[in-house]
Amino acid sequence: TVRVRFAPSPTGMFHVGGARSALQNWIYAKQQGGVFVLRIEDTDAARNKPEWTEGILSALDWIGIERGSYEGPYFQSEYAGEHRAAAARLHASGRAYYCDCTREAVQARTGSQYQGYDGFCRDRGLPAGEGRALRFRTPDEGETVVVDLIRGEPTFENKLIEDFVIARGDGSPVFLLANVVDDMTMGITHVIRAEEHLPNTPKQQLLWDALGVKPPIWAHVPVVVNEKRQKLSKRRDKVALEAFRDEGYLASAMRNYLMLLGWAPSGNREIVEWSVIEQEYRLAEVNPSPAFFDEKKLRAFNGEYIRALEVEEFVEACRPWLTGTGTIAPPPWQPEEFDADAFAAVAPLAQTRIALLSEIVPNVDFLFLAAPLIDEAAWAKAMKEGAAELLDAATAAFEALESWDAETLKSTLEAVGAERGLKLGKAQAPVRVAVTGRTVGLPLFESLEVLGRERTLSRLRAARV
Ligand code: GLU
Repeated sequence: TVRVRFAPSPTGMFHVGGARSALQNWIYAKQQGGVFVLRIEDTDAARNKPEWTEGILSALDWIGIERGSYEGPYFQSEYAGEHRAAAARLHASGRAYYCDCTREAVQARTGSQYQGYDGFCRDRGLPAGEGRALRFRTPDEGETVVVDLIRGEPTFENKLIEDFVIARGDGSPVFLLANVVDDMTMGITHVIRAEEHLPNTPKQQLLWDALGVKPPIWAHVPVVVNEKRQKLSKRRDKVALEAFRDEGYLASAMRNYLMLLGWAPSGNREIVEWSVIEQEYRLAEVNPSPAFFDEKKLRAFNGEYIRALEVEEFVEACRPWLTGTGTIAPPPWQPEEFDADAFAAVAPLAQTRIALLSEIVPNVDFLFLAAPLIDEAAWAKAMKEGAAELLDAATAAFEALESWDAETLKSTLEAVGAERGLKLGKAQAPVRVAVTGRTVGLPLFESLEVLGRERTLSRLRAARV
């Protein structure tokens, strides 16, 4: 059976590129009736932290790769014995040798910049010893052909592959070897991973051969780049999956978008059910050139996914931003000021207007705060000449209303505006700013209906003092 693995290193926030590789493995396993294995490559003790591992597990959960539905997690650090045994076997079979050359010594011999190891210790037969690295003896002839689902058959000339180190001077195996040994131990048949690992692949495949196991089929997934065509980087770009989640991207939109980097479903569609992607996705169809991670497009996707939710789902999805759950910033109102019924009443109006769930907060804060948050620029813009007089007239007209509903409020303000030669839009502006603090927002009259007579009137009056 097909066995794939996702093998992140817990050295930082979980990257969108990692999420994409994980999903590609996940889909491939599903399509092949295979097994998805999670392996945490935690051998870099200086850079690993347990919270990063937890972050990976919960980010995978969020994106739809849930704990309990895959094999693992295995931890690379628990397989140190296997890594060492493999190094010893390679030495015993003559495929690896000890070397005590320093980089400076190699450079002095080759008389140039360091361009790879020159093979000086190949046949010296040095025994193991403190400070002696173990090097793999690469073939001098022939070529290594990698079978890659995305790239065809990248071919590497063996004579250009240096005798590379597989265990350091202190005896500890290097990542390149540990990664191969784990894949063998875990019976991995297909390695689907980021393109940046491709230069390692011929070396790793030589290790598979030398250890006497049939190498896996590879798939090197193209890099993800920003609008300047630079590889997405933690330092420069927003890349953490958690950051997108906390801004209010839906997991469904995110994973749909990630799969569209370098690939498209049939029929000129972009937004499709996950089941369609699971069915139609083909690694062989993935474009091998770099894929642009377009946040604007992702945002537009997200807006569509938000609009496609049932209202109850939308209300539920907004909850973390309305309450400030976990790593999400708390809203500007106090928990006891929140009114779930009022929110449910305006939710359908907000649902069509926001692209990120976090945007719910500025749209509804006027409902829960004792006084609206006044945006000074908006206030100055709306409270121009004639505004005071209009507000007084509107207040008087609203006070006289028998029924407090959106339609009545609208026709009332329309009439007040008309007496002053103002179209409804113009007449609305000062009322909106007085009541919500902003110049844009949810449909005004529905908002006033939900806010209620008392609060609306007191805000209109307060705007006049
Ligand atoms: N731990 C490696 C990484 O995070 C994965 C290497 C691989 O997938 O083979 O880049």
